[in-house]
Amino acid sequence: MAPERRTAVVEEIRPLNPRVREIELRLEKAPFPYESGQWVAVYLPVGPQPPKVRAYSLATPATGDGRITLSFNRGNRPDSATDYLFDLEPGDKLEISGPNGGFTLPPEREHDFLFVARFTGIVPIRCMILDLFSRPFTRDVVLIYGAQSPEDLVYGEEFEALAGKYPNFRYFPCVQIPSAGWKGEVGSEAACLERTIRSPEGRLAYLCGLRALVTPAEEALQRIGFPAEQIRRERYD
Ligand SMILES: Cc1cc2nc3c(=O)[nH]c(=O)nc-3n(C[C@H](O)[C@H](O)[C@H](O)COP(=O)(O)OP(=O)(O)OC[C@H]3O[C@@H](n4cnc5c(N)ncnc54)[C@H](O)[C@@H]3O)c2cc1C
Repeated sequence: MAPERRTAVVEEIRPLNPRVREIELRLEKAPFPYESGQWVAVYLPVGPQPPKVRAYSLATPATGDGRITLSFNRGNRPDSATDYLFDLEPGDKLEISGPNGGFTLPPEREHDFLFVARFTGIVPIRCMILDLFSRPFTRDVVLIYGAQSPEDLVYGEEFEALAGKYPNFRYFPCVQIPSAGWKGEVGSEAACLERTIRSPEGRLAYLCGLRALVTPAEEALQRIGFPAEQIRRERYD
């Protein structure tokens, strides 16, 4: 059976940097319950055989009022589906379906967590981290968030603030090309992971982004001794 499509109206657009933006949508039929880490299918009226259907993760925990936030980067090809999203304006409408996916927090929150993401792979992980710290949570949480350059760590300031507020949230920004005065990690997220995490004991690992991030990060986890059941992954390609 085809999934039920729902209409969403663009309420607000927030550029996070020249290549990444957030859109806040209001579903015409509320509520829209979902779990942090899930994604929606977006039906884009583009391409030779529209719609082009693309997945976008929900960037903020469910509010219960039918509002959702998506966050995405501009494509690197002329016919990229995301260019359509970039050209939307407040009041425009989109068709979506969902929520979908099992890249979510466990029902019982009795683990330490390791989150590893690159660039817009951060979106579902940001949602889960905001969810975890929306109520008292005392277990250790490590975030390794990588990008080409510091400007592409679009939620970096938010994570710095969280790390300042919660001693059990440890944030490791990681870039390929550091700017002058950069104080974070340089190099691959997988190498940072191996320097930071010594044991799989009591910890669940979540990886999200393109294959180029997920595969080496998963191999690093295996070298540390993480069994498959302690690794969750969401791949964008
Ligand atoms: C479960 C899931 C959740 C996703 N959530 C998000 C999200 O929250 N934000 C987001 O920006 N994208 C997300 N994506 C990727 C998104 O669905 C599209 O693939 C992406 O926007 C590129 O679409 P496109 O039509 O421009 O290019 P496509 O023709 O779909 O893809 C061309 C190539 O672009 C690469 N690609 C895929 N995603 C990206 C990306 N984000 N940046 C650069 N290259 C990419 C792949 O190698 C792919 O083969 C998600 C994908 C999946 C499967």
